Amino acid sequence: MHYRTLGKTGLQVSQLGLGGIPIQKAERKNVRRLLERMIASGVNYMDSARGYTVSEAYLGEAMKGLREKFIIATKSMARTRTALEKDILTSLQNFQTDYIDLYQCHNPKVEELDAFCGEDGGLEALKAAQAQGKIGHLGVTAHSREVFEKALTLDWVETIMFPYNIVETQGEDLIAACQQKNIGFIAMKPLAGGAIEDSNLAIRYILQNPGVSVAIPGMHCVEELEQNVAAAIQQVPFSQEEEMRIQEIRRTLSGNFCRRCNYCAPCSVGIDIPGVFVLKAYFERYGLAQWAIDRYEGMAKHAGDCIDCGQCESRCPYQLPIRQMMKTTVEEFGK
Ligand code: SF4
Ligand code: SF4
Repeated sequence: MHYRTLGKTGLQVSQLGLGGIPIQKAERKNVRRLLERMIASGVNYMDSARGYTVSEAYLGEAMKGLREKFIIATKSMARTRTALEKDILTSLQNFQTDYIDLYQCHNPKVEELDAFCGEDGGLEALKAAQAQGKIGHLGVTAHSREVFEKALTLDWVETIMFPYNIVETQGEDLIAACQQKNIGFIAMKPLAGGAIEDSNLAIRYILQNPGVSVAIPGMHCVEELEQNVAAAIQQVPFSQEEEMRIQEIRRTLSGNFCRRCNYCAPCSVGIDIPGVFVLKAYFERYGLAQWAIDRYEGMAKHAGDCIDCGQCESRCPYQLPIRQMMKTTVEEFGK
């Protein structure tokens, strides 16, 4: 395994880490074996979230006696001091540990960040926990460039997580900015939420970018881990044939893959268009249908609220057939 420094945290992280969403569908008793194989392969980084139901708890349970082998990152959608204090305690209990290496503000909207950093905002909880030694470092995860750009200006941000893969390259200049500012960059969705089937090509593509500190494909079993480890340690340039396959993947996915850039906003009736399509992808490709349904249920507006005005489509730089995609979403989710 190869290691990189996670920006100003100074942590030495394996280039490949565990993305913890699919742990929700793992068999509880098999997670220990997965962690043991991670150790044997030199993979020392794992990422979970308060929102991934049992993920933190399964990882924590399987990690008994192995805590010091891993750099634990997790994250919370809580935005206030009080709510985040509770989530930090829950994360510590779930992981059965007295410290978490990296705690991230999970996917804030840009307008939420000022309040998060202000009086009684979540940042106060993070800093207090950090002063008590319960948290090592602080970061932000983002899906939009707007939030990524804002996070780059915040002096407490040591790491930023953002989608990066063969078809989602919209953050490349910002990844370079991370490198200049010594902010660790964590590549989420390396397989574009399961849309890219060739994991070898996908992982190698990401890791050839020196601005990437760690790529975290979602994994729930040893077979996935071994495939991804093989790709991460294979440091050879792409052959001509592989370059052509990369172009082919881009062509194939260009017509129906949402990059979460949010240029289509605002929706005339307030639908969170990329949010709907993220859950649609989880429903279709990730084997997490029930989890996607539960999250979809919690959205303020659903695909069924679409009035077919088409305004979003004129703003989507990828010419996605958003209205048609809304219709298939209604068929899948029932609303
Ligand atoms: S077509 Fe539907 S999703 Fe698009 S802006 Fe109009 S209401 Fe919103
Ligand atoms: S639908 Fe198009 S504009 Fe909207 S987030 Fe997805 S890719 Fe971007």
